[in-house]
Amino acid sequence: MDDRYSRQELFGAIGKHGQQLMKKKHVLLVGAGALGTGNAEALVRAGIGKLTIVDRDYVEVSNLQRQQLYSEIDAQKKLPKAIAAKYRLEQINSDVKIESHVLDASWTDLLELAQPTDLIIDATDNYDTRLVLNDVSQKLGIPWIYGACVGSCGMTFTILPGKTPCFQCLWDKMPSAGGQTCDTVGIISAAVGMVVAHQTADALKILVEDQDSLSGKLITFDLWQNTYAAVQVKKLKNSSCPSCGTAPSYPYLSSQNSLKTAVLCGRNTIQIRPAERRKINLPDLNAVFTTQGLPVQYNQFLLSVEIRDKRLVVFEDGRVLIHGTDNITEAKKIYHKVFS
Ligand SMILES: [Zn+2]
Repeated sequence: MDDRYSRQELFGAIGKHGQQLMKKKHVLLVGAGALGTGNAEALVRAGIGKLTIVDRDYVEVSNLQRQQLYSEIDAQKKLPKAIAAKYRLEQINSDVKIESHVLDASWTDLLELAQPTDLIIDATDNYDTRLVLNDVSQKLGIPWIYGACVGSCGMTFTILPGKTPCFQCLWDKMPSAGGQTCDTVGIISAAVGMVVAHQTADALKILVEDQDSLSGKLITFDLWQNTYAAVQVKKLKNSSCPSCGTAPSYPYLSSQNSLKTAVLCGRNTIQIRPAERRKINLPDLNAVFTTQGLPVQYNQFLLSVEIRDKRLVVFEDGRVLIHGTDNITEAKKIYHKVFS
């Protein structure tokens, strides 16, 4: 298969030299859903050296419309996505080493899995993991490529430690995404393909060591509304950012900030639960809120406090219900404000 990569080598910015560089590179792919399968297939076909895949889910029929590596048989067998993807990718290109993990990855798992890699690709569907990936990337000095899509919209940004703003810098400034997910408003595969194209192109640039060709811009689009924007975000790099600033504390590489969130459907409420249980001292918390002049009620089991138009209910085990929103991003910002 000597001419396997001939068309890619003919492409001047890669060439035979780039192809050889790519063969030595190891990519960590977090998530093997729509974005994950698209990125995995492109990179494996392109001839990277090794791909490590992490995913906690199994294949369902409703995935097949957009998750390009899976088949009806995978769904019938309820195969874990990491396993089904590995099997299919090995059929596509047996030269690439594929390692797969069926895992709801914690921050310690991600830190360990990322250690020997050259690039991290975000193909997750949640901000908890992205904030962890962001800290892993900054701590280890490994680039990562953020990608998200819902409906006909998508967004992507490539983060280079020490050069670009990090995800935390952007996240603090970004308008909230309205809490939409593909479980609530659906998704078309074209939006997935567009994000994958941007992520893969940037991945190739990084893997062939041509970082100068990266745009450094935040890309957003809506394929149904025919809009596309590439926004310069250089100025958002924040020197006091806890993840990429001059004195980073990597806040998401700790159990305290590993949050699990859930939207309580139809209740306009978000539940947030720390990954590790911790006992909250309700009388102490009551004293803190009362000093701030906030209306508080509490009993031996829970504390309820009103902060502007939201009501927070805090349980002794650290679980918090935030009433008055169905937006996870907004809820987490409130949570961090109150508990950090
Ligand atoms: Zn930052």
